[in-house]
Amino acid sequence: MTTANAYPVTQTIRTIGILGGGQLGMMLAEAAMPLGYQCVFLEDNAHCPASLYGQVFSSDQLDDFIAAADVFTLEFENTPTATVEKLANLSKSGNKQGMFPPPIALDIAQDRLKEKQMFNDLDIATVPFKEISSEADLKHACEALGLPIVLKTSRGGYDGKGQYVIKQESDIKADWQDLKDAVSGKGSLTPTPAPLIAEGFIDFSREVSIIAARAQDGTVRCYDLVENHHFHGVLAKTQAPAVGTSHIFSQAKEAITTVMNHLGYVGVMALELFVTKDDRDHDFLLANEIAPRVHNSGHWSIEGAITSQFENHIRAVVNLPLGDTDNVHPAIMVNVLGQYPDISALLAIDGVHYHSYHKSERKDRKIAHITLMPNDVVDLEPSMAKVVAVLPNKVGLRKEYESRQQQEQVNDDQLSSAQIKDTGARDNSVSGSKALNDKAPDNKTPSNTVIADEPDKASEPKNANSEISNPADAKTKTAKAKK
Ligand code: AMP
Repeated sequence: MTTANAYPVTQTIRTIGILGGGQLGMMLAEAAMPLGYQCVFLEDNAHCPASLYGQVFSSDQLDDFIAAADVFTLEFENTPTATVEKLANLSKSGNKQGMFPPPIALDIAQDRLKEKQMFNDLDIATVPFKEISSEADLKHACEALGLPIVLKTSRGGYDGKGQYVIKQESDIKADWQDLKDAVSGKGSLTPTPAPLIAEGFIDFSREVSIIAARAQDGTVRCYDLVENHHFHGVLAKTQAPAVGTSHIFSQAKEAITTVMNHLGYVGVMALELFVTKDDRDHDFLLANEIAPRVHNSGHWSIEGAITSQFENHIRAVVNLPLGDTDNVHPAIMVNVLGQYPDISALLAIDGVHYHSYHKSERKDRKIAHITLMPNDVVDLEPSMAKVVAVLPNKVGLRKEYESRQQQEQVNDDQLSSAQIKDTGARDNSVSGSKALNDKAPDNKTPSNTVIADEPDKASEPKNANSEISNPADAKTKTAKAKK
């Protein structure tokens, strides 16, 4: 006899209750369905992306939401911890099958000070930091850490909001004035009073993240390290795997496994890290923050990994064995921000996978993502230039890929001209390339600026792009980066 649920061990679970109903909830529901599970959502926006996949309950319908689900998880990390605790307690008393991740994970992820303290207690390296509750604290921190420093709200900030770089002593007063309301809880940045955190400014070479899933029996499986490029604090692009990172992969894997085991975590977590140098000038990772949920830098795994982050999260929540996290093919994931692209032009590019979130257009809002996975890895970067050409909003991508496309246009023109005249292409190619590089916009950082106003690190020449242009090299590195 067949049942709706193929796994007898979990047949008591039919419906997964998800806190939040954004695109992460939508993609969790997409992954749950083939496994035989339904999802319902607690979310005040009745027309949220997840509403296409299951019933949405508003926050004043919490009891109905609870009644509709057998087990609980979340897709939104600023969920009130009280709700998460209530769901965890219901499970402890045997009424439900669990709340994953545990409330402690959320409590720590919502507070940068607790988070950094936890990393340090677990011997995981971070940037040096200080708690700030007054202007005097801030002055002392500037002396102790040395300028420049990054000043952040410890709670409530996201996507680079509520962050300042203090480069000189004369900036202290103004930046303190801007952020002091967060300390007293009066400002819009934080709902409750919370100190600020001052961090040493790290001159990192790359930003990477590692995603892992932990099952209820404690098994941990990690995805490849990926490289992230942000613009205005918002993720613009992820390269999976991050090229040339096999030597730091074990450090990342150990760090996320240690954190997950410490928290008794169940589900998918992301750990964001800076690549910097140690005393011996070797690459070394500093932990920045955890996300206790599926993560934007793991969207590539839907097509690019044997088991996606979404499916592994569902598997962990319903107590099924985790799937293989190996990368099947190098990929680039790009966020579509603000405006939808011409879908026909986009899908004419080989290797494009498109995921719309069915949201209305709004400036720089994440409304879709594209995972680019051409059959031949040598086509990855040229195809990216074509994708960027089709995107109406090129924030975080423009400089790098526009110049690449212009260069390719120059090369194409030269090739056809060489084919006709059979002369002169090589010399022109060199001068063409130099001219384009000379036009590259200046990347100087203004003094005392909000991080969100800094030029995009994604536009700086990154070794990842040049490295992957050699397909043999990229393949070797992918293989080496495997667990
Ligand atoms: P966060 O909200 O901590 O993820 O910070 C947003 C972005 O600001 C990061 O992705 C980094 O690009 C940058 N950033 C954050 N903290 C630091 C730091 N201590 N030093 C240098 N850059 C930082």
